[in-house]
Amino acid sequence: IEQTALQNDKLAILGRISAGIAHEIRNPLTSIRGFIQLLKPYLFQVGKEEYFRIILAEIDRANDIIYEFLNSSKPSAPMKQIIPINELIKEVALLTESEALMRNCQINLESYSSEKELKVSVDVKQMKQVILNIVKNALDAIEEVRGERRGLIDLITREDGRYVELTIRDNGKGMDRSTLNRLFDPFFTTKQSGTGLGLSVSYRIIRNHNGTVRVNSEIDAGTSFIIYLPLAE
Ligand code: ADP
Repeated sequence: IEQTALQNDKLAILGRISAGIAHEIRNPLTSIRGFIQLLKPYLFQVGKEEYFRIILAEIDRANDIIYEFLNSSKPSAPMKQIIPINELIKEVALLTESEALMRNCQINLESYSSEKELKVSVDVKQMKQVILNIVKNALDAIEEVRGERRGLIDLITREDGRYVELTIRDNGKGMDRSTLNRLFDPFFTTKQSGTGLGLSVSYRIIRNHNGTVRVNSEIDAGTSFIIYLPLAE
């Protein structure tokens, strides 16, 4: 037990140091971003618009990585609250509505819990982040199919014993074996401007809530993320 306690201490210290460094990197990034914007007219004048675009995109990517890293390295224990799972889902659907519309994609909510509300005990902010991460990935996966079919994302909840089962299903590009195997690894991404942190953070949050997650995927057909969370008493 002592060993574990010591390890936890070390992890906590490492977390604090990393968070401190991440924070310190943010300030210089902000000033670089400011100055490069001042240089914009000159870069355009000499026909280097592309350089301007790349510099800005890369600074933003670095900021995204730091933002997600800070989020995930906070030792924050979940601040739990009992809430109907469908309420969380509706909020996420609302948040992603405009992006879905832009990509000609439809988001459906289905619930198979007929009469009673399925309640879970969750840190609302963290669990919303999880669902949001997965829905955003679904939107990205659909965009890459490009107009061959209408994008569909289904969010389905049902009761499964003492668990709530939440399925997030898309008809996007799907994944091959090697992607599936590394999906939850920190910094694993197949996207040009991805951080590869979304799913590793989501996995941690789900585990912290005593839940599990399963993934089914088929190339060119789509992907399902199936999350299990304990039903709140
Ligand atoms: P990011 O979105 O920044 O790449 P994630 O950790 O959220 O990081 O996802 C890791 C990788 O998993 C993605 O780059 C993508 O290759 C794959 N992925 C995740 N969700 C899906 C999905 N619904 N369909 C296809 N691929 C997916």
